[in-house]
Amino acid sequence: MINSLSQELQYILLQALNKTDDSIAIFDQYDEIAYCNLSFANLFGFETVDMIVGKSFSQIISNSYYNKTGVNIETNDIEAWLHTANMKRRSTSHRSFEIDTKDGSWFLITEQLVDEYLFLYATNITASKIQQFELLKTQKQLASLAATDSLTGIYNRRHFYLVANNELIRCQRKNLSASIMILDIDHFKLVNDNYGHSCGDNVLKSFTDRINKELRSYDIFARIGGEEFAVLLPDANKENALDIAERCRKAISDSPFIIDGVNVAVTTSIGMYTYESDADGLEQIMKLADKNLYIAKVSGRNKICS
Ligand code: GH3
Ligand code: MG
Ligand code: MG
Repeated sequence: MINSLSQELQYILLQALNKTDDSIAIFDQYDEIAYCNLSFANLFGFETVDMIVGKSFSQIISNSYYNKTGVNIETNDIEAWLHTANMKRRSTSHRSFEIDTKDGSWFLITEQLVDEYLFLYATNITASKIQQFELLKTQKQLASLAATDSLTGIYNRRHFYLVANNELIRCQRKNLSASIMILDIDHFKLVNDNYGHSCGDNVLKSFTDRINKELRSYDIFARIGGEEFAVLLPDANKENALDIAERCRKAISDSPFIIDGVNVAVTTSIGMYTYESDADGLEQIMKLADKNLYIAKVSGRNKICS
């Protein structure tokens, strides 16, 4: 086909292939490089085209792998890696995929079979890949902000309902018990009145830290109101949940909070409810725990009702 191009056009084509930053190679029927431009040689860690022409696909990959240069090949078993790669190569007439290199660049590789030759084209996509990573990072940060209470760093009310609901459904499906605790700081208004709002904020943060230390890694802890917190305790029957609740209550009341050198005595009331039937949804369980919290409040505070 190329014969039908004029000498001038053949020259232009070769010049274009040599000038472009994109990497281009043609592998022959033995999977050896019949042609490539300088950019392709560099992509696999070779300094000149002459150093790579005639080498097989396996050889250039092994060169990158053992010399830790060019393309990133993440494996502990290069033979197995090559076997898998060779199964995929030439398995379809056209395929494309992304690779990254030791220097942090990214390339979109396109492979096209032409008779027994494999035409490979690699476009540098580093800039758009960096944008993509930045976007993903921003999305993650936004999702985390939307789920988190900014003062204490734990889940907010909205996210609590989302996560706790899923967890409760999982417990119900697996026939596991689950309990809810609602903790409300006693007479918190007095903390603000006596020591100031900023001290109140610090109490809320320290309160969160103390409770967090008493919880298991898989408990779901959230600030659901000003000085009101909720915990879903998966796989905790009433006895387990009462143990945890008592630990939490004591963690708050046993020693005062020291805020800017001032001792601030704090207690918390806890309403608890352990779900017993599949018909209990999260809303219902929260209502029942809240009723128990109310009883704890009116019957003296600094106590647990379940
Ligand atoms: P009770 O024992 O009945 O729960 O009494 P309480 O004073 O804790 O309850 P109340 O609902 O009367 O007051 C809650 C207080 O919590 C009032 C509000 O100013 C304060 N508060 C709510 N959110 C924040 C916050 O983010 N920071 C601070 N410092 N105070 C807050
Ligand atoms: Mg309160
Ligand atoms: Mg309250």
